[in-house]
Amino acid sequence: MRRIVYSLLLSAALMSQSAAAAPNDLPGVSVMSVEQWGGTPADPAKARRQTISHITLHHQGETYPVGKDPIAYLRNLQTWSRNTKHWLDIPYHYIIDLDGKVYAGRDIGYAGDTNTEYDPVGHALIEVVGNFEEVEPNAAQLKAVADLMAALALKYHLPLDAIASHKDYSAQTVCPGEHLYAYLQDGYFKREVALRLARSTR
Ligand SMILES: [Zn+2]
Repeated sequence: MRRIVYSLLLSAALMSQSAAAAPNDLPGVSVMSVEQWGGTPADPAKARRQTISHITLHHQGETYPVGKDPIAYLRNLQTWSRNTKHWLDIPYHYIIDLDGKVYAGRDIGYAGDTNTEYDPVGHALIEVVGNFEEVEPNAAQLKAVADLMAALALKYHLPLDAIASHKDYSAQTVCPGEHLYAYLQDGYFKREVALRLARSTR
């Protein structure tokens, strides 16, 4: 009897633990946690801490075929980031798949990593899968980017001018690709974020 009570208490404790807010959770956006997609947390002792001051858009830069499993992609990306690049973790804090689903990457409290010359400390890094030098972002991806940017702007009290992309900080890259960059250049994302922020304060 005592053992049964103990195991009930234990499972209740575990349930409340998994229900606790994950670091990359955001109001109004469903974010699949690292734990949920089968990743492992980064070593906090090796992390560079940051306070978010920028929202920075990236693309994967590789073809992402329809039907490719995003969970397998994320697990491989985490392994590659750590074992091949010797980074703390996946370089980005959020990853958006072809369906516009949002996944947590690196803990948002930890600065990202880059192959280029800018310092990503303070940047919330969003990666959209695909290569937007070659393909157009789809409607679900565009909506997810706007939703995510708005939630980040709201949570971290950032102005619209905090929104930019990798190539705005680095001359060494075309990231996030010209077809995705076009939506920053013509003001689409800032307009969409402004609309969402206006709605949220009503
Ligand atoms: Zn990039």
